[in-house]
Amino acid sequence: MKDTPKHQGLRNQLINTIAKKGIQSKEVLEAIRKIPRHLFMDSALESHAYVDKAFRIAADQTISQPYTVAYQTALLEVSPNAKILEVGTGSGYQTAVLIEMGARVYTIERQHELFKNTKVFLPKLGYKPKFMSFGDGYKGLEEYAPYDGIIVTAGAPYVPKPLLSQLKIGGRLVIPVGKKTQTMYVYERESTTAFKKQALGTFRFVPLLKKRV
Ligand code: SAH
Repeated sequence: MKDTPKHQGLRNQLINTIAKKGIQSKEVLEAIRKIPRHLFMDSALESHAYVDKAFRIAADQTISQPYTVAYQTALLEVSPNAKILEVGTGSGYQTAVLIEMGARVYTIERQHELFKNTKVFLPKLGYKPKFMSFGDGYKGLEEYAPYDGIIVTAGAPYVPKPLLSQLKIGGRLVIPVGKKTQTMYVYERESTTAFKKQALGTFRFVPLLKKRV
C-alpha cells in the first residue's frame, strides 16, 4: 500500500476538477486531497483512481464518484466531532472522508463480503469508524441514535422512516431518492415532528436493497 508524490499530484488535479464543478467546502476538498483513493480500488484500476468517475470494483462493489462524495458530504455540513451515520459502507471511501473531517462515524453495509473487507482495510489506513454494522440500512442504527447527520450512499426508492426518526433536532439527512435516477434530498429536522425538505441535483446510484446478504 503506497502513496506517492505522483498520486498526490493527481489528487491535486482532481480537487481542481471538483472545485470547478461547484464544490466550495474547503474541509471537503482538503479531505479528498489527503485520502489515497487508489488504495480503495483494485490495483489494476489504479490509473482510474483520480478520474472523477464511479467504479464498479468486485462483484457488487462500487466506489462513488469523487464529485458525488464531495457533493453529499458538503450537504451534510459536518462539524468536527459530529456524530454521523452512513448507509452503504462499500469501499469505505466516503467513510474515510467523513473521518478525515473529524466526524465520529457509524456505518452500515448489507453485503457481508464488503463489510468484512472494509472492516479490515480502513483501520490499516488509519481510519477508525466508531462502529461498523453488518445490517440493513433501511432500519438505520437505533442503538447509537440520534445522529447529527445521516448520509445514504445508495439510491433509495423512498425515504425510510427510521432514518428520519434517528436524526437529532437540527440534524440533516442527505439521501438520493428515485429508481433509475435519483434526486438528492436534504431533510433537516426542525422539531420532533417537523422536517424541512430540499430537492437538489440528479444523480445515478446503485440501488438501496432490502435484506442483508
Ligand atoms: N460509500 C461507498 C459507496 C458504496 S455504493 C463508497 O464511498 O465507496 C452503495 C453501497 O450500499 C454498496 O456497498 C451496497 O452494498 C450498499 N447497500 C445497498 N443497500 C443497502 C442497505 N439496505 N443497507 C446497507 N447498505 C446497503
